Amino acid sequence: MGILVGVLAIQGDFKAHIKVFKKLGVAHKEIRSENDLSGVTHLVVPGGESTTIRKVAKSEGFWNKLAIFRGPVLGTCMGSVLMARQIESPKAEGWGMLDITAKRNAYGRQINSFTAEGKIAISEKPFEMVFIRAPKFVRVGDKVEPIAWLGDEATGVISGNKMALAFHPELTDNGCFHEYFLGL
Ligand code: GLN
Repeated sequence: MGILVGVLAIQGDFKAHIKVFKKLGVAHKEIRSENDLSGVTHLVVPGGESTTIRKVAKSEGFWNKLAIFRGPVLGTCMGSVLMARQIESPKAEGWGMLDITAKRNAYGRQINSFTAEGKIAISEKPFEMVFIRAPKFVRVGDKVEPIAWLGDEATGVISGNKMALAFHPELTDNGCFHEYFLGL
């Protein structure tokens, strides 16, 4: 079976992810309902507003379907928040795909958005990390492996086929995280 990437397209920067998969020549589609999930092998949850996504996905009746998606999942920024077992600031319901606690908007008001070079496990070269009202992973469970760091802080984690990044790789030219995701 070939890869079919589904990008959650309720709200947020899903178009930026779609651009990356176009460039990589990978089959992809936009997900706005439960029916759209049919045939999807890989799910991407973009950056955006987690409260909006929760509200819309629940009213459309497929919030729980997303939570039990068995294939590889890549969540960036807001996506990483929704994948978490616990969400703080404020406390909210996540999908529990990863045993982490994500604290929303954790980089403070002064620096809501910034770009910085971080270390990543999947390449020798530093990675340009774009943070936009980004979360921090304030707790990382035993079975969860950090794969990206800004200084000492984990900004990307993986467990099995679930990968959560606090930054936005879709907003840089480096597609290495998307390629890695396709291989999960
Ligand atoms: N602060 C947003 C949230 O928690 C995430 C921001 C983003 O995805 N750029 O929903």
